[in-house]
Amino acid sequence: MERSVLVLAEVKDGKLRNVTFEALTAARRLSEGGRISAALFGQGHQPLAAELAMHGADQVYLAEHAELDRYTPDGYTQALTQLIVHDDPDVILLPHTAIGKDLAPRAAARMGCGLISDCTGLEWKDGEPVFIRPIYAGKAFESRRFAAGKWFVTIRPNNIPVEEHQSSHGCREIPFAVDIKDLRTVVKEVISKSLAGVDLSEAKIVISGGRGVKSAEGFEPLQELADVLGAAVGASRGACDAGYCDYSLQIGQTGKVITPDLYIACGISGAIQHLAGMSNSKVIVAINKDPEAPIFQVADYGIVGDLFEIVPLLTERFREMLA
Ligand code: FAD
Repeated sequence: MERSVLVLAEVKDGKLRNVTFEALTAARRLSEGGRISAALFGQGHQPLAAELAMHGADQVYLAEHAELDRYTPDGYTQALTQLIVHDDPDVILLPHTAIGKDLAPRAAARMGCGLISDCTGLEWKDGEPVFIRPIYAGKAFESRRFAAGKWFVTIRPNNIPVEEHQSSHGCREIPFAVDIKDLRTVVKEVISKSLAGVDLSEAKIVISGGRGVKSAEGFEPLQELADVLGAAVGASRGACDAGYCDYSLQIGQTGKVITPDLYIACGISGAIQHLAGMSNSKVIVAINKDPEAPIFQVADYGIVGDLFEIVPLLTERFREMLA
């Protein structure tokens, strides 16, 4: 059955986030030959349309409005709902990022539509698409299907392998005029933390430190290993609470939820709240000097020992292998 799908593209620091391409890959499977539209909100994003076309968009809406340059819940909700009324898609896909998590339920409620959030996979059963999503903090997975009407779906980053697929119809760029009024939220200033390195939420490899690193300096060997592997550095709340690192690195129930290909936990005990943020990683390696640490129950590979001895050895070995 053909479906028309609208994907909200997400731009960060002038670049499309990789999860946008994952959403377009999902859109192509879901559409079963139907029309795929992408939307770029904000000014000056037209040069990015070609990349959306390369990943399967048949048309790209350019909603160039000054109020869309920065995310505000009411500005984006107004723009997205106006676009949905205009485009009339069957399915609306958003990245399951801070923006998507906030926007999708608002827009879905405003339009009286269903929402399947935080999807990590898409399968077919009896000819119908079925979305896979983690529940109970990643301890189990459930399958959700569409009922009648339009549906919103959010896609968790790093779960759907990106495929390039140029639209066979060519890609149209369509300016879309939005009418934004009565904004209740005004962003006056954005103060960004200057965190160098790989974006944690989309990193393929994450090296994480817990209270076992013992100090801010204790993160240095982890950063060195991350640099060699092109990885991001993450942390447990224990390490953040102890002041060893910034809270923006926190992984878990009250931090970031990530799904890298490889997660290396160093000096992290494996509390349930931490596992909620990383237990769906494809391969988990744990380094802990306590053989009874619960992290070993979810680890694919466990190293019992002192992280300050093991991490530098790993760095040295990877440096040789990758030279
Ligand atoms: P610890 O539990 O103290 O573990 C440190 C580990 O380091 C130990 O296992 C120890 O054996 C090992 N170690 C020590 N020295 C070395 C060494 N030299 N080499 C190797 N291993 C060593 N936690 C999160 O992480 N993320 C969350 O989002 C989160 N949300 C929470 C929400 C709520 C409502 C609550 C109540 C708690 C939350 N927590 C969260 C906290 C969580 O319960 C744990 O307290 C926290 O994860 C523990 O951090 P840790 O593993 O770094 O520290």
